[in-house]
Amino acid sequence: MSVMEMSHRGKEFLSIIQKAESDLRTLLNISDEYAVLFLQGGATTQFAAIPLNICSPDDAVDYIVTGSWGDKAFKEAAKYSKPNVIWSGKSEKYTKIPNFDSLVQNPDAKYLHICANETIHGVEFKDYPTPLNEKTILVADMSSNFCSKPVDVSKFGIIYAGAQKNVGPSGVTIVIIRKDLIGNAQESTPVMLDYKIHAENNSLYNTPPCYGIYMCGLVFEDLLDQGGLVEVEKKNQKKAQILYDAIDSSNGFYRCPVDKSVRSLMNVPFTLAKPELEAEFVKTAAGEKMVQLKGHRSVGGMRASIYNAMPLAGVEKLVAFMKEFQAKHG
Ligand code: PLP
Repeated sequence: MSVMEMSHRGKEFLSIIQKAESDLRTLLNISDEYAVLFLQGGATTQFAAIPLNICSPDDAVDYIVTGSWGDKAFKEAAKYSKPNVIWSGKSEKYTKIPNFDSLVQNPDAKYLHICANETIHGVEFKDYPTPLNEKTILVADMSSNFCSKPVDVSKFGIIYAGAQKNVGPSGVTIVIIRKDLIGNAQESTPVMLDYKIHAENNSLYNTPPCYGIYMCGLVFEDLLDQGGLVEVEKKNQKKAQILYDAIDSSNGFYRCPVDKSVRSLMNVPFTLAKPELEAEFVKTAAGEKMVQLKGHRSVGGMRASIYNAMPLAGVEKLVAFMKEFQAKHG
């Protein structure tokens, strides 16, 4: 029987989901104080689930907006709470992370929300802000850098991530939440968004995305076999380094707009000094089997996403191509 045919309540699938959870706990060193939930609906659903579970409609919450995903999360939260953007990088085209000392946090905020890695803009938190007081929890959308490096989970009340960048197929969304935060959902919260329901039922309240969870489990095993997230991060750093070096040493032919100290290890946006060459760049790269290099439609330029599964050889090939392209058109 394949995983897709199994009953999600049968002992075979139970052992699959339990092993996936236990391997993820090992990878991220997640303590028993936290629940690990395998949910559905993408990170976008969590934009609503978080305020619904953590706040009353009149509760204040703080958002640091370092890119368009953080902005979307903030807008969704406005339907279920009273969010306030305490810092936005929009006027600087989302190329920066704020200086934490300069933040003016609301002492009554239920949580402080960040997007740990802005996928479109390539801006990544290298360290995390500390909420003003113990009542306020730190919440992070880690969709696009989940399991790309070690993270101190104990700094967060909630970490959430769509699986599809680094750990499995779309359809699985992972929520890591401190157990004492569960059980306070607003009355109108749909059952499918209520963390208490999912925690009490070990993520099996309804039929979960079984095959996707199975695949996440295989990826967790592989990440452990690679030596865990310390080793995974070393590989990601090496890949990102050679790509950023190629951009920075191109005498301005290529340019990455992101502040050097917060450049993402996962998503590397860059532009060409001659924008008229961008279409040619994308087309010629595709001819050499390097695809998906066009930047997001909202920002233009190029973007190389170099998630865990991209081997060093893939990045080396791109860098060699970039040098050749520059030699021809520079
Ligand atoms: N947050 C980040 C950082 C993302 O990169 C994405 C998708 O790319 C989302 C949220 C939305 O995720 P989903 O499509 O799983 O709802």
